[in-house]
Amino acid sequence: MNIKIEIPENVKYIISRLEKAGYSAYAVGGCVRDSIMGKTPSDWDICTSALPEQTLEALQMDNIIENGMKHGTVTVRYKNENYEITTFRSDGVYDDNRHPRSVSFVTSVNEDLARRDLTINALAYNDSEGIVDLFGGVEDIKNGIIRCVGDPDERYNEDGLRIMRTLRFASALGFEIDGSTAGSVHKNAHLLTNISVERISSEFNKMLMGRNVEYVLENFYDVISVFIPEIQPLIGFDQKNPHHNYDIWMHTVKTVTFSPEERTMRLAAFFHDIGKPETFSLSNDGVGHFYGHPEMSEKMSYKILRRLKYDNQTIDTVCSLIRLHDKRPPAEPKYVRRFLNELGEQLFPKLLELKYADAMAQSEFKRQEKLEYIERLRKIFYEEIEKGSAYSLKMLNINGRDIIALGVKDGKRIGIILNKLLAMVMSDRLDNDREKLKKAAQILASGREI
Ligand code: ATP
Ligand code: MG
Repeated sequence: MNIKIEIPENVKYIISRLEKAGYSAYAVGGCVRDSIMGKTPSDWDICTSALPEQTLEALQMDNIIENGMKHGTVTVRYKNENYEITTFRSDGVYDDNRHPRSVSFVTSVNEDLARRDLTINALAYNDSEGIVDLFGGVEDIKNGIIRCVGDPDERYNEDGLRIMRTLRFASALGFEIDGSTAGSVHKNAHLLTNISVERISSEFNKMLMGRNVEYVLENFYDVISVFIPEIQPLIGFDQKNPHHNYDIWMHTVKTVTFSPEERTMRLAAFFHDIGKPETFSLSNDGVGHFYGHPEMSEKMSYKILRRLKYDNQTIDTVCSLIRLHDKRPPAEPKYVRRFLNELGEQLFPKLLELKYADAMAQSEFKRQEKLEYIERLRKIFYEEIEKGSAYSLKMLNINGRDIIALGVKDGKRIGIILNKLLAMVMSDRLDNDREKLKKAAQILASGREI
């Protein structure tokens, strides 16, 4: 195969230094895959026959980060970029479906490629030899196929995380998983129970943000339910409601697909209806309802996201979006301000995106009205931001010190008065004008109501 890859000058330099010292060296893995696909690689990994000490010796660079040396990786900083240079290795027997018991350094790139997970990742390149492709990786890239290097059952048993990587790459690259690899993914899904949740979540995030997420969720929910068993009741759950033409799971899949490729958005879409089965009721006319499902979904998502070790800010954001996803107040400024009060300016557009994705993932019944409603909320949002309308205590043209000056000493009462003023401003019963606010505050401070 005569494919020319443009290697950055820095990488060329590192490879040539190693070659001059008598070793072989290649760009390897994701960077070769991405280059062949015409994408700019995020980083360039290098592999070499040189042992770590020999790499250091050959490069003679001052800026060396030596961690990982015993696993064969030297990280050098060269012209403001970090490069990982790893000695060819072959992994020995694996313990606990994750860790090779021993790693041995080898002299041939072929053995190093053989230990890699997927054919599309088992590619090496340098200018003198061109592409080293022992497992048909280039062909698989051309055909958009994800396939294990070697026997999939063996490879997944060595390292269960590869199951998530298989799904992640299928989703991110828009590739399809080859039949025998797919069969093995289903068969070995349970191996994920041996993998740390941090690693699973990290792959799950990338999978959710991929452009082929629909295909993966639709076909591999059994894998997801190994670490999120809470999705099982959604699968095949008939909603018996004119707004829905899909079961809850497929509605969820479509909502994820219609939401922007951003982490918190995709997580919120994934979990937004997870509490539905718990809240299902059937009215006399045979129509299904899910009263209180946003709160139930929020509660369940909180537990799941904690278990999967997401950070607090992510959990907060995702839970807020889920809690509010089905609120449908009249499209009026005061209600938009309430949303803003709860979510802030950054998050409110995300809520609108979630509402949009949710509506698109439902039946066409009243869809036009739903979309127009969302657009009215959006328009009001822009107008309110433009006008600088107050929706939080900070934005009020009066503060705690002003209330103290009126003779109120008790902190709690100060808070109550300020909140009453804000509620009036937000509902257009009072202008956010300093003098008017002071007058109103005076009345409240004297114990009267307005
Ligand atoms: P990206 O960095 O764009 O997410 P990548 O292919 O570079 O994709 P990395 O996780 O950085 O992925 O891994 C670098 C290379 O190491 C991979 O291309 C693959 O060849 C190999 N690799 C990574 N993880 C595994 C694994 N669990 N089992 C086997 N090989 C792996
Ligand atoms: Mg990488």
